[in-house]
Amino acid sequence: SQSSLQHNEASLPKMPPFDYTPPPYTGPSAEEIFKKRKEYLNPAIFHFYKDPLNLVDGKMQYLFDEKGRRYLDAFGGIATVCCGHCHPDVVDAIVNQTKRLQHSTVLYLNHAIADFAEALVSKLPGDLKVVFFTNSGTEANELAILMSRLYTGCHDIISIRNGYHGNAAGTMGATAQSNYKFNIVQTGVHHALNPDQYRGVFGSDGPKYARDVEDLISYGTSGRVAGFIAEAIQGVGGILELAPGYLPSVYSTIRKAGGLCIADEVQSGFARTGSHFWGFEAHGVVPDIVTMAKGIGNGIPLGAVVTTPEIAKVLTHRSYFNTFGGNPVCTAGGLAVLKVIEKEKLQENAFKVGSYLKERLTSLKEKYDIIGDVRGRGLMLGVELVQDRELKTPAKSETIRIMDEMKEIGVLIGKGGFHGNVFRITPPLCFTKEDADFLVDAMDYTISKM
Ligand code: PLP
Repeated sequence: SQSSLQHNEASLPKMPPFDYTPPPYTGPSAEEIFKKRKEYLNPAIFHFYKDPLNLVDGKMQYLFDEKGRRYLDAFGGIATVCCGHCHPDVVDAIVNQTKRLQHSTVLYLNHAIADFAEALVSKLPGDLKVVFFTNSGTEANELAILMSRLYTGCHDIISIRNGYHGNAAGTMGATAQSNYKFNIVQTGVHHALNPDQYRGVFGSDGPKYARDVEDLISYGTSGRVAGFIAEAIQGVGGILELAPGYLPSVYSTIRKAGGLCIADEVQSGFARTGSHFWGFEAHGVVPDIVTMAKGIGNGIPLGAVVTTPEIAKVLTHRSYFNTFGGNPVCTAGGLAVLKVIEKEKLQENAFKVGSYLKERLTSLKEKYDIIGDVRGRGLMLGVELVQDRELKTPAKSETIRIMDEMKEIGVLIGKGGFHGNVFRITPPLCFTKEDADFLVDAMDYTISKM
């Protein structure tokens, strides 16, 4: 063990049993891979652990390292693996389609793309009936921003501070966290006050924060805008649920200014929030454009934009397409994902297990002052660590240390937030009550030893 804490093996929390042994691994060691990664891969990628983890197998909510050691995956590949790692139905769908036809492009007909588009539309309200497939969340948001600009003839976009929408030229503008911004031209984006119920100036008063959007329009634009983009629960920003009443009020303001409302469901979609299939549904709004990725493919690179037939028409005066969008292997996988969510009642499970987990984490907050806030919905939960509850000073180094120690016990948890002091819990939606207990026990044990 790499742990710096003194463990008493007998008192260590025990991982729930799981009947699966991965095949033997014969590949290179973690050290060898790490050496290559340092030499050949993007130097800006950070790795989560002091000793980077070499993951070689995945099965449902568990991951396995090169030595066959099992870990409970509480991060789900950044809120992406919704059905479970290598879910057999999803794997079968991908393999069968791969054997038959791997690629054709949307210039030809293929049933996988049409069937998946139809199934996706059936999950959306109102007139959201036209699907554009992309390869990532960034690309989906780029397209949504482009559509809103073309449709309205305006350029100004409003997004929320602390939001994350991607890292290409347009989406980097909409993203509002310095950690993810570079000094390139990012014109026409205005960042509204974050309706952050933990740190925000107006607490949980959504409509009060919404007035800032009115001000941004009045003072920073011609009075007309292209659109507004927001996550219902900020994921990268530290699992912050928009204050209640905020979205309905902002949607009405934006529409009065001629703009379109874009829901970025890249993290909060596909049943993750438990109470609803889409995050925006908890706020009682219907967007004009919905963007999605991550959970859509259980880990297959895939994204989509869904909008109304009227808005979709703005792209018809030019040719708009991309080579891989709607690739039959990805869309066959996506269709299998939707079926698994339904068949295995994963939304209901996210609600049930998520509510239980949140309750247990909230009890942990009563026990330890370092836990400043527990929040989120379903299996999209956040635990914010602070050095001082009054001042809310971010406990950044403690977050890193606890995370490393939890890995030693067998739990992989996510980390994020503007200050890097929030645990992000976004596991596969097949997470069980026993897994939730193990996660909380591991966190409890680790904090108690520090
Ligand atoms: N939107 C949200 C809410 C995200 O969390 C992310 C990625 O984390 C993106 C967009 C960008 O997606 P991708 O990384 O697939 O480009």
